[in-house]
Amino acid sequence: MTIEWDAGRLDSDLEGAAFETLAVRAGQHRTPEAEHGEALFMTSSYVFRSAADAAARFAGEVPGNVYSRYTNPTVRAFEERIAALEGAEQAVATASGMAAILAMVMGLCSAGDHVLVSRSVFGSTISLFEKYLKRFGIQVDYPPLSDLAAWEAACKPNTRLLFVESPSNPLAELVDIAALAEIAHAHGALLAVDNCFCTPALQQPLKLGADLVMHSATKFIDGQGRCLGGVLAGPAELMKEMVGFLRTAGPTLSPFNAWLFLKGLETLRIRMHAHCAAAQELAEWLAAQPGVERVYYAGLPSHPQHELARRQQSAFGAVVSFEVSGGKEGAWRFMDATRMISITTNLGDTKSTIAHPATTSHGRLSPAERAAAGINDNLIRLAVGLEAVEDLKADLARGIAAL
Ligand SMILES: *Cc1c(COP(=O)(O)O)cnc(C)c1O
Repeated sequence: MTIEWDAGRLDSDLEGAAFETLAVRAGQHRTPEAEHGEALFMTSSYVFRSAADAAARFAGEVPGNVYSRYTNPTVRAFEERIAALEGAEQAVATASGMAAILAMVMGLCSAGDHVLVSRSVFGSTISLFEKYLKRFGIQVDYPPLSDLAAWEAACKPNTRLLFVESPSNPLAELVDIAALAEIAHAHGALLAVDNCFCTPALQQPLKLGADLVMHSATKFIDGQGRCLGGVLAGPAELMKEMVGFLRTAGPTLSPFNAWLFLKGLETLRIRMHAHCAAAQELAEWLAAQPGVERVYYAGLPSHPQHELARRQQSAFGAVVSFEVSGGKEGAWRFMDATRMISITTNLGDTKSTIAHPATTSHGRLSPAERAAAGINDNLIRLAVGLEAVEDLKADLARGIAAL
């Protein structure tokens, strides 16, 4: 039983709407069932009116869904919402953050192309380039993230892509995105930014001059540690290369995960601000504790890029990393003494998590690669969740007592 609807009343008019409004409503196209919440289309394929209709849709002569590796309405709603929030023409969702990075390189690069990846990037990203993409003739160098002169010097005539994470995981190092975009463009290359740690709620790299944005939606976009996903956003002209790769090779996003991410986005900005406020308080508190040798958090005035972070981001993020006395043993003792914070490598969850990067996320790197990335054995990464700050302090105090 469906009702004939005036389409103007089924979809929200979002002309000129603000971020919070777009986060709640963008991308939703109601069906004639007039559902209020976003519909979840768990279907692998779509039916055709006739054999001729099937042929026309396959040929792209008539718009419409064919198969969920190509398009799915729930996934499309998520893509439209991300595009709206990042200020992008188009977004395309992927099965995970790593699948987004793979799709970006497969879509944009060919054998013989040169790619620059920031040295302090996510551990699996380095493995992807070193173990796999290099085998297919992609050349890679790793400039230090914040050193613009090093990026300039590393550009070659065949440099196609610059890829950075700002702020970086786990050390919260930044790069001046606008300045790096100028360097990339002067060399005929593209700048892509992994915006996982800030999300569009805190930083919109395209507005700073980047060409592409990439996310692990697994983190703050989901926000509750439930499922994996990724997304790329940018101009349609570039996105079509990634769309083509994904539809052919298949690491596309599940509609169920897209539906969870749509729900996550609705509360993104208020969650990010709550995460950041708690992280700021904990970073200041940790910096004053005995046995804590160094705290990495861009919200601390002592952070070398505090001013850049103020300019480039609307808050400082939810990840606080710190070094403790006693080397690796000290770090492990600290973590084992906690009784609430979860020992797990995920982040961006409502539950605070604690991890030892040197033996987990960055454990596959050689000691030399780890040293170059600044991952010391006594480093602990805390991803601040949404528990009461007093309870988090009490748990961290157990770690401090164990040092
Ligand atoms: C987790 C993460 C990734 C990889 O994303 P997955 O969804 O785990 O594949 C990439 N970049 C950053 C900064 C991350 O934190």
